[in-house]
Amino acid sequence: MNLRVEVVSMGADGIEQRRQVLSLERQELAMETLGMSLVESKALLESVQDFMIAQQVAEDLERRRACSHCGRRHAMKDFGTTLVKTLFGPVNVPNPRWHRCPCQPEGPQTFRPTNTWLQGTTSAEMLYMETKWASLIPFAKVADLLKEVLPVGNSIHGETIRKHMQATAERMEQELGEERQMNQYDGSESGWEQQPLPDGTITVGIDGGYVRAAHKQGFFEVIAGKSVVAFRREDVDEVTSAKCFGFVQTYDEKPRRRLWELLKSQGMQENQQVVFMSDGGEDVRRVQQYLHPFSEHLLDWFHITMRLTVLQQQTKGLQQERPATGADVAKQLESIKHLLWHGNTPEALERLTGLSIDLSLFREHSAPAAKVANGVADFETYIRNNSEFIPNFGDRWRQGQRISTAFVESTINQVVSRRFVKKQQMQWTMRGAHLLLQTRTRVLNNELEATFRQWYPRFRPKAA
Ligand SMILES: [Zn+2]
Repeated sequence: MNLRVEVVSMGADGIEQRRQVLSLERQELAMETLGMSLVESKALLESVQDFMIAQQVAEDLERRRACSHCGRRHAMKDFGTTLVKTLFGPVNVPNPRWHRCPCQPEGPQTFRPTNTWLQGTTSAEMLYMETKWASLIPFAKVADLLKEVLPVGNSIHGETIRKHMQATAERMEQELGEERQMNQYDGSESGWEQQPLPDGTITVGIDGGYVRAAHKQGFFEVIAGKSVVAFRREDVDEVTSAKCFGFVQTYDEKPRRRLWELLKSQGMQENQQVVFMSDGGEDVRRVQQYLHPFSEHLLDWFHITMRLTVLQQQTKGLQQERPATGADVAKQLESIKHLLWHGNTPEALERLTGLSIDLSLFREHSAPAAKVANGVADFETYIRNNSEFIPNFGDRWRQGQRISTAFVESTINQVVSRRFVKKQQMQWTMRGAHLLLQTRTRVLNNELEATFRQWYPRFRPKAA
C-alpha cells in the first residue's frame, strides 16, 4: 500500500494552496507496521507545521502590507527570517523590514510588521511544555523526552530548557507586586466587620529544607509550605483549597507578598483567621509576622512529639546502664509531653529544668546520661524559645482544630524533592533554586496554564 498525505490551505482570498507532506509505504502487515511510526508522525507534524506557519504568516503580511491610512503598499527595506522553535519543529518565519509609508510624516524610517505578534523565538506551547516538565524532572531529561516524542529539532539541550524555565519564572516574579510592609492591611478595622462571614480558618504549615549550594558554598535553606482552607461556606461538599509555596529565604525579596498573594488567591479576607504552624525555627517565623491582622503562630505538635521521641530513644541507653534512673527519666519525659499537650508550658519547663539538674549529678560518670542531659537541655531551650507559641493542643484537638502540619511534610518533599537534596550531585545557586520553586509550585497548584493564558490570551482556550 502507498499512502500520500497532502495538506490544503484555504486562504482568506479563497485561494487554495497544497503541499504533499508525507508518503508512506507498507508491505506486509505486522504489529510493528500497523499505522504510523513515531518517525513518520514526527515528519508529518513537522511538514504540516512548516506549511501552516508559512501560510499564516504570508496571509498576515499581505493583510498588513497596505498602509492603513492611504492604502499604498509599504516598500520593502529588506527580507529577513526569524527562527521560531515550536513543538513541531523549528520554523523559519518570514520577518521582513518595511519602509514607513510616505503619507506618514513621523515615526521610525522602517519597521517590522511581525512586531505586532511575534514575542520571543519560542512558541507559547513549547515554552509551556518546557517550563512544566523542567519544574518536575531534570532539565536534560526534559530535552531527551521532547526530542524523543516530538520533532522539536536537535538544538534543544538541558541548558536551553533551563534558560527558558528561568525566563518564565522571572516573568512571574516581575508580576509579583512590591513587598508588603509590616502592618499593611487593606481597609480599616470597621471595614473588616462589614465583610461577609469568611471561610474557615486558613492553616499555613511552613517548613525548611536544605539544598546543596554551587561552588562548594555549603548549603542554603529553602522554605516551603502549604496553605489549607478548612472549609468554604459556599461549597456544599466542603472542598478544601490547598496550595503550596516555596522560596529561598536569603534570595527572596518579597516573601510576605508571595504568601499574601497565595492566601488572597484562596479567598482570604481580613477578618479571617490564619494560623501558621511550624517547627519554631526563627527564620521560618519571620515570614508570617505582620502578614495578617488575625494571624496566629503555633508550634506544630508534630515537631514537639518528634523531638520527644528522639529523647525517649536516648534514654534507652541510660536504662541499660542505670535501669531505675532511666525508667524515671522516661516517665518524666512522658509527663512533660502530657503538660505540653495541655499547653501548661511553665510547668513543663520547670520539670525540664529539674530533669537537667538530676541528670547533671551523674553526667560526669555516665556517657548515656550525658547524652540525655544534652538532649534535655536542647529541648528545654527549644520550648523556652517557643513558649508563647504553644497553645492548649488538647483543647484545639477536641474542638476539631488543627494541631499539626504533618500534612505539610509531604508537600516539603514534593516541593523540595529529591532533586534538591544532598545525596544527589546537583548543586544549586540560590537564584536557580528560587526560580525553580516558583514554577514548580505553580505546576503543583495547577496554575501554570492560567499564567500562560494571561500572557497569551488565546493559549489553550478553556472549554466553554
Ligand atoms: Zn500611507
